[in-house]
Amino acid sequence: MNLFLTYDYELFFGAPTGSVEKCIIEPTNHLRDIANRTGVKMVFFIDTGYLKQLEIFKDQFPKVQHEYDLVKEQIQNLVAEGHDCQLHIHPHWEDCTHDGNAWEMVTDRYKLVDFSDEEILKVVLEYRDILQRWTQKPIHSYRAGGWCLQPFDRVAAAFKKAGLKLDSTVFPGGKFTAGNYYYDFTNTPDKSTWKFSSDLCQEDSQGDFIEYPISNYKYSLWFFWRLFGFGRLQPHLHKPIGDGYPMSSPGLKKQMLTKGMNLSASVDGYFVTKLQRALQNNAKKGYNECVIIGHPKACTHFALKKLEKFIEKNKTKHSFLTFADLELNQ
Ligand SMILES: [Zn+2]
Repeated sequence: MNLFLTYDYELFFGAPTGSVEKCIIEPTNHLRDIANRTGVKMVFFIDTGYLKQLEIFKDQFPKVQHEYDLVKEQIQNLVAEGHDCQLHIHPHWEDCTHDGNAWEMVTDRYKLVDFSDEEILKVVLEYRDILQRWTQKPIHSYRAGGWCLQPFDRVAAAFKKAGLKLDSTVFPGGKFTAGNYYYDFTNTPDKSTWKFSSDLCQEDSQGDFIEYPISNYKYSLWFFWRLFGFGRLQPHLHKPIGDGYPMSSPGLKKQMLTKGMNLSASVDGYFVTKLQRALQNNAKKGYNECVIIGHPKACTHFALKKLEKFIEKNKTKHSFLTFADLELNQ
């Protein structure tokens, strides 16, 4: 099977957003070390609205200049080490500012589809250009911020103009429509990749785009009791390295603790303990791909250790690839 370790490279979007050192630089350096030791390459979906605002505010505030320098150097290192840096858009950065001390997050327009058609096109093309300038590599793959990319027909034209060919946003069975979020992946093809045109979840063999869905896993309510319990009991192992707070997800924690939840297969924190199972589930279904999601900001020391073991265990049986390894022009 082809495995894709993908990380959304970003700050938190609540208050506070957390520091760049703890949310991005330090955990990503741990990931680079793991990649260097194991020989695998990873995909980093770079929150490019953040890069845009770093460029805008760096000349105004020394604090932002410092943040910009750290991120710039790390992205250059990621590219030089053969990792694949692709496009991640949280368009609410359009509405965010810095006051010299901290980012001021405004998340009312959280999804691309909260913007007009004209604005969507402008944001997608501009962010593609920014990331291409930072990486000097072709940008062809995409993951939506907060899994929010529906209805896709509002975005398809911008994707085509920007030369985006691959999306990795969907996780089968996922649904969350509270707060600023909207995604519904309850009806997807039973495949580990499919072509699509105007609907992310509808296969179209003639479509211009290909979906590499994130693998999913049904986490039991007991799983979440353990996850939250370990966070309290052994914070040095199980508290995220990132020091910010997420945007609110109304009702999410209650649903996790009372019913369990179908979520993406993840390397974040305690989720890493179900990775091997998620991989086995894909193998049982005859899939050739397994896409795993993570966030540097949500890395724990426990998860980093387990990730390295997971890679060592699977790297001879399976191939760890990036989207840059695929022939996307066919
Ligand atoms: Zn994100």
